[in-house]
Amino acid sequence: MEGLFLIEKELQELHQEGLYRRLLPLEGMEGPFVRIRGKKYLCFCSNNYLGLSGHPRIKRAAQEAIERYGWGAGASRLVSGNTTIHEALEAELARFKGTEATLVFPSGYMANVGTIAALVGKGGIVIGDRLNHASLMDGCRLSGADFRVYAHKDMDELEGILRRASQYRERLIVTDGVFSMDGDLAPLPNIVELARKYKARLMVDDAHGTGVIGKKGKGTVEHYGLEREVDVQMGTLSKALGGIGGFVAGSKTLVEYLKNRSRSFIYTTALPVAACAAAMEALRIMEEEPSRREALWRNVRYLKEGFKVQGLKSSKEAVESPIFPIIIGDAREAVALSRSLFEKGLWVTAIRPPTVPEGTSRLRVTVTSEHTREHIQSLLKALVRLRRTGAEGQALSHHLLDP
Ligand code: PLP
Repeated sequence: MEGLFLIEKELQELHQEGLYRRLLPLEGMEGPFVRIRGKKYLCFCSNNYLGLSGHPRIKRAAQEAIERYGWGAGASRLVSGNTTIHEALEAELARFKGTEATLVFPSGYMANVGTIAALVGKGGIVIGDRLNHASLMDGCRLSGADFRVYAHKDMDELEGILRRASQYRERLIVTDGVFSMDGDLAPLPNIVELARKYKARLMVDDAHGTGVIGKKGKGTVEHYGLEREVDVQMGTLSKALGGIGGFVAGSKTLVEYLKNRSRSFIYTTALPVAACAAAMEALRIMEEEPSRREALWRNVRYLKEGFKVQGLKSSKEAVESPIFPIIIGDAREAVALSRSLFEKGLWVTAIRPPTVPEGTSRLRVTVTSEHTREHIQSLLKALVRLRRTGAEGQALSHHLLDP
């Protein structure tokens, strides 16, 4: 009873602080539109960057796989859940990333947690950027290794930590390639240099880079030309590839080691075959149709320009990716602004602590290849209108206006 009272109290506090989280049930999706409670909304908060989640060829690939294999995998990959399709997907991902091997996990979250915890442990140290994704943070904590964070992209602080870490049996640096809530890129060339200098291994989470960044969409590692320098590349099948699942790309030895040691790979049921077949088809389409990535980047540039023209303020570095954070600060204000946009048929979620640091609640706008210029204009117009009207408008004008 006492315990129940405590969680009720905590929920009340979350309400008061504007930190309460709610699920919105979608009734359907069509391109960049979603249907909620019978009404159509233009979505600006999805990670379906290339619009692949509803592609007819991908749906067909999943359906055919279900016909042949059924829906559930029935067991862990190491028991009876492994199929030729899982292995074909891994081979395709390795070819795409240009690594010796890859290993597919049921989600990106599990890939991160299970890989970090397998690679470092007691007697080791793991070092990460303060704005790394929660799944990296959780993997670092779970590993049992000493865990240090450095201020966002602060290479001096990272070097200081590495300099004092020579006594550890192993050193692992982990970083987002594209920071998921800020949209900026990690300074990978500098991190690689420090990793080399201090004999540390490097793991890059390219969840938001895969399919989006780099000439061929291989991610931030390709963008910087560091394919030979990064020991562990993680990616998801859930964002630009429009499906579900995560993967780790690297050497054969790394992948064999993870098969034997990664608990979130070993002790869970395999990804359904349909998800693997869908991911393979998504990869094929992505490579056959670079025009999707080109359309995405045209939209990124168009939105960035629109912010400038309208005198709206977004994080300066956000042009490095399709993620545009509008920092509001207070969680309640961010929620109120998100609600105002929602009333106008635009869906941009408010991102609040603990997803982002205290005092940096924000609207996280994402564009995809599916948006048209008219869609983007309607978002810009709504933001400008909000800036001009009412109490919420005042809050927005304070945060949005370029000085
Ligand atoms: N890493 C980053 C940077 C993310 O943004 C996400 C997204 O949720 C993940 C990992 C987890 O990936 P998934 O959604 O496939 O579990």
